[in-house]
Amino acid sequence: MSLWVIAVLLAALAIIILIVIVAARTAAFKSKQTAVPSRITYPVDVNAAAARLAEAVTFKTVSSHDRSQFDYSLFSALHAFLVKSFPLAHATLEKQVINSYGLLYTWKGSDAGLKPILLIAHHDVVPASDEGWEHPPFSGRIADGRIWGRGTLDDKGSLLGIMESLEYLARDGFQPSRSIYIASGFDEEVGGREGAGKIADHLRAEGLKFEYIIDEGMAATHGIAPGIPGWVALVGIAEKGYLSLELTAEAEGGHAAQPPRQTTIGILAAAIARLQAKPFPARLTGSAAALFNYLGPEMPFPNKMIFANMWLFGGLVKRQLANKPVTDASIRTTTAPTQFKGSERDNILPMQATAVINFRILQGDTVESVIKRVTGVIADPRVRIKPLAGILFQPSPVSPTSGWSFSTLNDTIREIMPDALVAPTLVLARTDCSFFVDLSPCCYHFVPQRIRSEELASVHGVNESITIDSYGEMISFYIRLLTSSCS
Ligand SMILES: [Zn+2]
Repeated sequence: MSLWVIAVLLAALAIIILIVIVAARTAAFKSKQTAVPSRITYPVDVNAAAARLAEAVTFKTVSSHDRSQFDYSLFSALHAFLVKSFPLAHATLEKQVINSYGLLYTWKGSDAGLKPILLIAHHDVVPASDEGWEHPPFSGRIADGRIWGRGTLDDKGSLLGIMESLEYLARDGFQPSRSIYIASGFDEEVGGREGAGKIADHLRAEGLKFEYIIDEGMAATHGIAPGIPGWVALVGIAEKGYLSLELTAEAEGGHAAQPPRQTTIGILAAAIARLQAKPFPARLTGSAAALFNYLGPEMPFPNKMIFANMWLFGGLVKRQLANKPVTDASIRTTTAPTQFKGSERDNILPMQATAVINFRILQGDTVESVIKRVTGVIADPRVRIKPLAGILFQPSPVSPTSGWSFSTLNDTIREIMPDALVAPTLVLARTDCSFFVDLSPCCYHFVPQRIRSEELASVHGVNESITIDSYGEMISFYIRLLTSSCS
């Protein structure tokens, strides 16, 4: 046999081995979805609950970066409305007010040996004008089978849904074995430091650790994954970090008629151009792997084969994900120049120019490593780089997708929404939960709402609303979650 025949045979053998490995891995790539006997529902008066959520929406609890713009009387009015609407829950749970407007409820468990659980839901909202809304954002209208208004999805729906479940369980004579904590901040939309931040400090000072923590950030969505036509309940298992860097360049001022070759704006513009030309490298982290592991087996060929063989197709998947901003953000630390300031007048050279760049830090990077890389890429000693005061967070640890906490959440989702596939994922935006990550190794992001992909923009946009059916399901979810976790 000549050498080239041997070479061809070896190549053919290698291809056959490759095909066998890929096929075997695809065949072994089995569904991770737990089977449930039947859908669980509770006899909740959904219409009465919908009316209460609608009324909660009418309290215009808008938070603002300018603290003097808060109308705190409306926050107090909402708190009074909660007391009035959920009398049994308020008679049963201990309520503490932290830093004037943060709410912390405790339902003492009977077994001190069990670690407590914590549910988080903020009650401030982002502003909204009437423009573009089918029903005014603070009118609390119920129409077309939906509850309309700012906060129905983000995040009063969650807080009221939790309160409904507590009221139901208190009426039912439920006594939790494990303590239940509910935390509700009043400034999540502007960073959360005074609300959730102070509640977390309080819990830390008490020496509390939680079996699990659940906050907003993810929900059940429809039509978002290729090849999966139905509902997917996305559970956030990690949150990206947050850092804003201020870049400053300084120079002699002067008349715009006799400019130097590069003004301070030119210096910063060049620095920003270098940063944007060199994005942070794409990486598939633990949360991405978990997402593929849960969704991959549910996909048709060839997607199933691809996700079963990430050792071979990882590069291809990364390139696909990099094509769209929303998926690109899940595989790298993002670079977003957001603010730029120069001279006050058109004919005066800027003695100082400043720019702000916002980074959302992927697991594996840190605040320090981002600053180091940015300094290296800009490579211009004329540009001063410093973190913007205020919000700064390291990326969160990745919470496990095994163990009691995840299984309890996972099984509850399947029991209440058996038509939805459960899939762990990364949370791209920041939530109040980032203040609590050291209080539990199991921090999950999930609100049991059903939001179709075309409705996602209504969160912080126009026509935010939730169907009454979905709200009823939310209440059943929280009843089941608390019952499964605490009996
Ligand atoms: Zn929110």
